[in-house]
Amino acid sequence: AKEEGRNTYRFYTPNLTETAQERLGLEARLHRALASEEFVLHYQAQVDMRDGQLIGCEALVRWNSATEGLVAPDRFIPLAEETGLIVPLGEWVLRQACAQGQSWRAGGLADLTVAVNLSGRQLRAPDLVERVTRVLEETGLPPARLKLELTESMIMGQGERALDLLRGLKRLGVRLSIDDFGTGYSSLAYLKRLPIDELKIDRDFVRDIPADSSDMEIAATIIAMARNLRLNVIAEGVETSEQCDFLIRQGCMAGQGYLFGRPQPAEDFTSLLSDHQTA
Ligand code: C2E
Ligand code: CA
Ligand code: CA
Ligand code: CA
Repeated sequence: AKEEGRNTYRFYTPNLTETAQERLGLEARLHRALASEEFVLHYQAQVDMRDGQLIGCEALVRWNSATEGLVAPDRFIPLAEETGLIVPLGEWVLRQACAQGQSWRAGGLADLTVAVNLSGRQLRAPDLVERVTRVLEETGLPPARLKLELTESMIMGQGERALDLLRGLKRLGVRLSIDDFGTGYSSLAYLKRLPIDELKIDRDFVRDIPADSSDMEIAATIIAMARNLRLNVIAEGVETSEQCDFLIRQGCMAGQGYLFGRPQPAEDFTSLLSDHQTA
């Protein structure tokens, strides 16, 4: 992930979390960053791969650090997760993304579904459903326009509580997507019980299409699995038209990846939307 992110960031800091002291420093800086609003969201298109039509976007957080430049989430999410800072940060992300989605709707630009990543910590917080409810109310985004991305391991780590939690979220009317799908160990039987809407094929299984035939088989299997469970399926990390064509042939119509657009700041994504509209 690191190599791929490299060219998209202005500065790359290889050893951001190297020593304990540096970690402490980083932790303090992350706290300050939240207070001084140094985090920003970038938005990446989710499209119907058959015609490129925009169906939604995923909000991806970056840290616009005064000292480091634009820092990729892989460099600070793990520590934010460990320290619990992910809870207020995650809530900020959720509110910001919902407000942005609602502002696009209100401006008549687009009625997109906005996808937001949740962390394990946020899922473990006892009041997640209330927090999401509040954010939806405060921003005015219709619940059906919010998609929450959760990983298999986060859900399985919750044991039986996961079902109640996911049902609670579904009752709000939001959509639920299983992120990084294929990298965990969910059985078909387990998945069948979950009130989810979508499987998101991890980039790991898309990257080496068509060179790696076992990856192609895995991707095809996930797509078939989604169809059996009557779930939507979306592929992440689609970079080439070969990958796109293969996925469509297998029955996966939705995709996200550099082939359709990189994550970009809200202003750029907004001009993309208005260009579409006037085109
Ligand atoms: P993810 O949720 O799997 O997000 C997809 C990652 O793949 C993003 O990296 C995106 O920029 C990158 N990507 C998208 N299309 C392509 C492509 O065609 N090729 C390649 N090589 N990469 C592509 P990013 O933005 O660096 O985020 C990394 C991870 O950080 C995310 O993985 C997610 O797990 C986490 N993350 C990002 N934002 C948040 C957030 O707000 N909250 C939480 N809890 N985690 C977040
Ligand atoms: Ca995601
Ligand atoms: Ca992924
Ligand atoms: Ca491979």
